[in-house]
Order: sequence, then structure tokens, then C-alpha cells
Amino acid sequence: LLQFFVGGNWKCNGTKDSISKLVTDLNSSTLEADVDVVVSPPFVYIDQVKNSLTDKIDIAAQNSWIGKGGAFTGEISIEQLKDIGCKWVILGHSERRHVIGEDDQFIGKKAAYALSQDVGVIACIGELLEEREGGKTFDVCFRQLKAYADVVPSWDKIVIAYEPVWAIGTGKVASPQQAQEVHQAVRDWLKTNVSADVASKTRIIYGGSVNGGNCAELAKEEDIDGFLVGGASLKGPEFATIINSVT
Ligand code: 13P
Repeated sequence: LLQFFVGGNWKCNGTKDSISKLVTDLNSSTLEADVDVVVSPPFVYIDQVKNSLTDKIDIAAQNSWIGKGGAFTGEISIEQLKDIGCKWVILGHSERRHVIGEDDQFIGKKAAYALSQDVGVIACIGELLEEREGGKTFDVCFRQLKAYADVVPSWDKIVIAYEPVWAIGTGKVASPQQAQEVHQAVRDWLKTNVSADVASKTRIIYGGSVNGGNCAELAKEEDIDGFLVGGASLKGPEFATIINSVT
């Protein structure tokens, strides 16, 4: 069994006050020691969180620029994220793909650059509802995976997050069987297209309407190695329940 990995993606939520309360709640939670935990605040609150949160939890940025900083108005570079203590970055999230319009190649560039600077990548993939209904789930996930695989220098700092778009923020969580089916297919894809070693060592985490009530069943599936949590990660005690669901 791989070490469980749980991320809290706060998305574009929070204020100084609400984040201070969330950090207090997380600091007072008992967290399973054998789980890698990261939280992902909006850029402008990363420093506040870094300075107040227990060092048992690492920080992941929600996005990054494709390369070195410079004349790129509105962007944040990997070097800057490292400078304020981020060890990870979430890339390829469905909201960046489908709301902002980022494509596979652009996301691949970001991933390659982050890894080249030794920042870990939570590499998101996942199909739209119409793609699932059209029988295209594996095609879409494999295409998105390949875009990472084509450019990343190595896999030891990558966690793959399978987040079916129809499950994100909808309350419609994938069933444990639906998630396991895709996770297993992703692992098989890695085995065939990267290596057996990478396939056996890469964490594949699930995201999409994970909450305190459904996490334990999902966590039992063989190829589910953790979670990427949106809404429920904004509530400290519930997020702690999800982190501890591995036991
Ligand atoms: P929800 O948990 O709110 O469905 O969001 C999932 C997600 O997008 C995490 O990145």
C-alpha cells in the first residue's frame, strides 16, 4: 500500500478571518501520522497559512506560470511559490481546463517546469459528463495523462488526481467502483507507457464531492491512494475525518 495523500483545494474561497479559523481548526485536529497532507489556499493567503499552520501539513499552490518569472502580468512563478514555502502545485484542474481554457500542452509545460525546480505536481485529469456518457472516459484520461508523460522529467514527485468533472462540486460522488475502475486503468496505462516501477509507486488520488461520509468506502479501494477535496476541505473537522479515513 502506498502512503495516503490528501489535498485540500480551497479554490477561490476564504478571507483572512475565515482562513485563520480554518488553520486553528486544522492545528487542533489529530491527524493520522502516516498520511501526506497538503492544503491549497488562494495565492494571496499562502504566506498567512504558511506562517500559522502546523508543519505537518504542506502547502500546494493552485496554479503556476509555465516558466521563469518576468514580464507576465498577473502570473506567479514556481520560484516565487518556492520562496514562500510551497512544496507542491495543483496543475490541470478541471476548472482551469474548462473554465479558464488551459489545454493539455500548456498544462504539460507547467508540470515539466515545476518538476524541474523540484516542486511536486498534483496532476489532475478527468472526463466531462458527456465524455463519460459517450464511452470516452478512458480516452480522455489517457490523452491528458500522455500530455504529462510526454514532457515530465521523472515521476517521483507526481501525484495523479482523477477528478471526474461531473463529480466536482455537484454532490454526485463517483461510486467506489467507478473510481476504482479508472484508477486501475490509469495504473495500467502507466505500466504500459512509463514503467512498472512508476505504476507501482505513483499515488492516484480521487477528487469530486468527497466528504466525511463517503471517504471511508472510497479509501478501501485498492487503487485509491488518497483524495483531493474541495468543499469539504473548508471545514477543519470534516477535512480531518477525510485525512484519517485511511485507517
Ligand atoms: P469538491 O470536493 O468541492 O467536489 O471539489 C473537488 C475538487 O475539485 C478538488 O480539486
